[in-house]
Order: sequence, then C-alpha cells, then structure tokens
Amino acid sequence: MKYAGRLVFYGRRNPKPMSKKYKSWFRCFDGCGERYGLGEIIYRCRRCESLLEVCHDFDALAETSPGEWKSKFSSRRQVVSGPLAGGVWAKKEWVCPEVEDKNIVSLGEGYTPLLKLDGFFKTPELNNVYVKLCGSSHTGSFKDLGLTVLVSMVRQMRSHGVEIPAVACASTGDTSAALAAYCARAGLPCIVFLPEGKITPSQLIQPVSNGAITLAIDTDFDGCMELVQQVTSEENIDLANSMNSLRIEGQKTVAIEIAEQLNWQVPDWVVIPGGNLGNVSALGLGFRMMHRLGLIDRLPRICCAQSKRANPLYRSYISSFNKFEPIEAEKTLASAIQIGNPVSIRKAIDTLKDFNGIVEQAGEQQIMDACAAADRAGLFSCPHTGVALAALKKLIGRGLVAPDHRVVVISTAHGLKFPQFKIDYHWGEAGELDNPDANPPEKVENSLEAVRSAIYRRLD
Ligand SMILES: *Cc1c(COP(=O)(O)O)cnc(C)c1O
Ligand SMILES: [Zn+2]
Repeated sequence: MKYAGRLVFYGRRNPKPMSKKYKSWFRCFDGCGERYGLGEIIYRCRRCESLLEVCHDFDALAETSPGEWKSKFSSRRQVVSGPLAGGVWAKKEWVCPEVEDKNIVSLGEGYTPLLKLDGFFKTPELNNVYVKLCGSSHTGSFKDLGLTVLVSMVRQMRSHGVEIPAVACASTGDTSAALAAYCARAGLPCIVFLPEGKITPSQLIQPVSNGAITLAIDTDFDGCMELVQQVTSEENIDLANSMNSLRIEGQKTVAIEIAEQLNWQVPDWVVIPGGNLGNVSALGLGFRMMHRLGLIDRLPRICCAQSKRANPLYRSYISSFNKFEPIEAEKTLASAIQIGNPVSIRKAIDTLKDFNGIVEQAGEQQIMDACAAADRAGLFSCPHTGVALAALKKLIGRGLVAPDHRVVVISTAHGLKFPQFKIDYHWGEAGELDNPDANPPEKVENSLEAVRSAIYRRLD
C-alpha cells in the first residue's frame, strides 16, 4: 500500500523522486577516499579521523543548465508551503536530496534581506557595500540554515528505524537556540551544553523555552565541545556541531542567495566573522558549487574576521598558514566567536587559500565603534557583525577594497540577541571603552515645558 501511494504521488508530477535522481554522500575531507552514507551517525572518517564533507553527483546536477537552475530557484521564491518552501529547501537538489519530503523540518529559514549599507562609510564613493542579514531568521542567527538540514536528516534516520535518543550540541548560544527550536518542531529530544555565564539571557531563554535539556556548565565553549564529543561518541546521541557537515550544506545557501539577490553578479569581497569556522567554509562551498555548475563566472575574495581576543585563525594566517596552534580564547564582546580551538580549521584554511582569502582581526573598541556607526546608519548590529564591519574598514584602509568594489558583509545574528553591550555603551558602563556616540535616554519632568526644552536642546 505504502509503495503504491508513493508511485502515484510522484508518477503524476515527476517521473523520478528527487532523492533517486540526485545523490549525495559523505567523503573523507582528507581525501583518503572513504565514503559513507548520509544516513550514518558519523562525523569523522573511521580510517583517518579527518572531518567529512558532503559530496554531490555533479553529473546529475549538470544535466540542468545554469539558466534553468536560476529560473528554478527564482520561481521557488514564490512557494510558501510544501517541501520547496524556504530558502534552504528551495535548493534541495544542491543541499540534501536524500531527505524525503515528509521528513523536512523547516521554520521558514533563509531568504534573508541583502541590504545596501548607506551612510556607514563616510567616503561617498564607497557605495557598493551590502549587508546580508542572516540574523533576520527564526531564531535570530544563520544557524537556522544548517540545523534545518541536520534535524531533517535525524528525523529521517529515526523514521528508518535508527535509534537516536536525542540530538546534542555545545554552543556559544546560537547553535543551541536553533537546535532546540528545530527539535521542538520535530518532537525530538534535545540536549544543549552551554558555558555558564558566557551567553546572553536572550540566547539562554531560547532552548529553555523550547523544552531542551539545558546544561549550564562551569567551563568555556571549548570545554563544552570536549564534553559533548565524549557523550555523543559513547551513546547514540547525534552531535549537532559544525563538525557535522550536514549543517554546512544548509549554510552554503547563503552564497547562492547573495548571488541571486545581486542578479548573479559576484561580489568582489565577502567579509564574514569566524569562530568555529564552519560558516566560512560553507560560504566558500556555495560559491564553488555555483561556479562549477556555471551559474557564476568567477569567485569572490573572502575575508574571515576574528576578534583579537579569539584569533587562532588570524595567528595562523600571519604565519602564511604554515602552523596552527589552538589558543585559550579571552572574553570578547563577540561572545559567539569566543573560540580558541576551532573544529573546522582545516576546511577554513583550504577555503581561504582557494578564494585568495585573508584574515583580519578587530579589537574591542573597534567592534564597539563599528556597531555604533552601523546602528547610527539604521542597523542594529550584533557584535560579530561589528567584527566584520571593523575588518572591512581595515581592508579599505589598506587599499585592498577599492571604491568601485562590490562588497558583502555577512551579518550573522540579530542585534536583539545581544543588547547588553549596547546598553553598556550608551549608559557609559563599558569599562575602559570609549563611547563617543552614547545616546542614553533623558529623564524628563512630566511637563510640556520640560519636554519642549529637552527636545529643542537636542535639535539645535
Ligand atoms: C556561530 C556564529 C558565528 C561563527 O560561525 P562559525 O561557523 O562558528 O565560524 C558568528 N556569529 C554568530 C552570531 C554565530 O552564532
Ligand atoms: Zn579518511
């Protein structure tokens, strides 16, 4: 009965179900050749311990011409329900064709605005800078793009009888929020490992509200990461950190969206903040895939931006990537990238080499100043976006970004998830950091005269 029903369904609309026509699988990232099915609970190669990557059948994908892909993608923007809805699943063939439609767990992720950034740079000739607002998403960060794919795949494995009692992650706040939301949507148990006192209340309340088992542990992110890896390697609990390369497949759609929003013109530069470094490799993957399938004719340069207080990639970069040493990350305003031992370091370095990439860093004052300037221009910037904006300023200063360059800055989270550093700034409580643009609310007596005088004092 089940089989017949399926045949009828696909028989009318599509001679072959997508999951049959397009294939994807895990492959060892070190090129040792090992392949694994996407339905396996596996994050590292069993033969050589290296991270895995997801591969696609490019021959099958290339049967559709670049123009046809472009019009497919743009026509799917109109779809509001069903398996092709949302910015990730609209590109299902490129992302994870293995997932059966009925297993997709979506919360309307993707299709975030690409906003022209006017008024941020005082130099008028720099008017081709855009911000990709990935934080305008269900849980307020780009993590939604990856977790929709991972949680869908877990639901599929469970529906095929694989015993997965729960999904777990270590997080600097945003991964846990996204994982908890998608698990709640799918009815899956979820466990989040959080460094106690190192994430914002807005981030903490998300998994709590979504019913996740929320563990606040007396360590930092890197410590949580070690613990979660131990737990998931001993139980059959699925690990949802970015070493799980299914997430990267969802996150790479940000590159495709950017290209589409720019009418398939490739930016000269993309600036992206990096912590565990999965997202920078996802960005590269998206551009590489479009290039290989002929949708774009060149690649952008990529700048990965780090906080000076959590800069292991930057340190490696200045040694021409000849060495890499994990560090102990210090407390930084950019708390979601306070990571000293990034899991995806090798993938990130590969990506940067491929994209003629560079690494920049930003200090705390520079992060503050960049956010304040962005907010004055109408954004409400999270500190990680501030890291990227500060890095961009440096690239302009060094002449690497020219006035006629088209630049995209990846804004990774919504500013409303990180209000405290702005409060400190405007209230004058940011310690040794300067706050030249502080604009605290003014206490005014309840009278027309007092109100008028308060207003006109400021408007003059
Ligand atoms: C996760 C995260 C990052 C860093 O992404 P990585 O893939 O870990 O490099 C940056 N900004 C925000 C807001 C995040 O949540
Ligand atoms: Zn291997």
